[in-house]
Amino acid sequence: MRTPLIAGNWKMNLLRDEARSLSEAIAATAKEADGVEVLLCPPFPLLDTVRRTIDAGPVALGAQNVHNEPSGAFTGEVSAAMLADTGCEYVIVGHSERRQYFGETDATVRHKANAALEAGLTPIICVGETLDEREDGSTPKVVERQISGALERLKPEDVRRIVIAYEPVWAIGTGKTATPETAQEVHALIRGWLKREYGGAIADTIRILYGGSMKPANAEELLAERDIDGGLVGGASLKADDFSAIIRAAL
Ligand code: PEP
Repeated sequence: MRTPLIAGNWKMNLLRDEARSLSEAIAATAKEADGVEVLLCPPFPLLDTVRRTIDAGPVALGAQNVHNEPSGAFTGEVSAAMLADTGCEYVIVGHSERRQYFGETDATVRHKANAALEAGLTPIICVGETLDEREDGSTPKVVERQISGALERLKPEDVRRIVIAYEPVWAIGTGKTATPETAQEVHALIRGWLKREYGGAIADTIRILYGGSMKPANAEELLAERDIDGGLVGGASLKADDFSAIIRAAL
């Protein structure tokens, strides 16, 4: 049985007071949502503020990015050990905004996932096709390439610990959501690929989240699909009521 994971990706939003009150509200919802794992991924400067607010409660903390090297002369970067030391358990890697605006490739994603695993963090590896790729029928090829590129050379015992987020690029921040059937089709394809590469026991353990304009109005039907094990939520995670409703939809 996979515990549903509802993760909020705050992106580059909020200041400390706002982060405090939003995470307080989410911590209160999470306390009433036994059986759902709730995760907040604020920007780096807010990690410690959120950690103090959710302290000892059921909400987990994650970051939105990490550097692949353990330390050194990489001005402006943050290592996986630093994130773990700040209280993070998770880190998002390969988000489409990182791929699009910061030139991250499948190899970058692999190195970051590896660094996260070595520091004891769970990487949430994001994959997903653009609108052009969906329209020309290459979604399966693109998603499989991204997953195999990210997992290549990882040990099966490490693969078991990852989370995958399927986020069609055309649905992120656009208000357009994949239908439950469209999302389930890709989730099933990802699980099928994992099964072929690593066997059923590992494939059945890995949580595959859906991301792309998830909101209270569509969360329940998306989360009802067999291979959708939670959500990676952007815009709606910035509103306490909306994110709380999505958490409840996963119950
Ligand atoms: C995201 O950025 O991961 C995301 C899914 O954003 P939104 O929910 O706003 O589409």
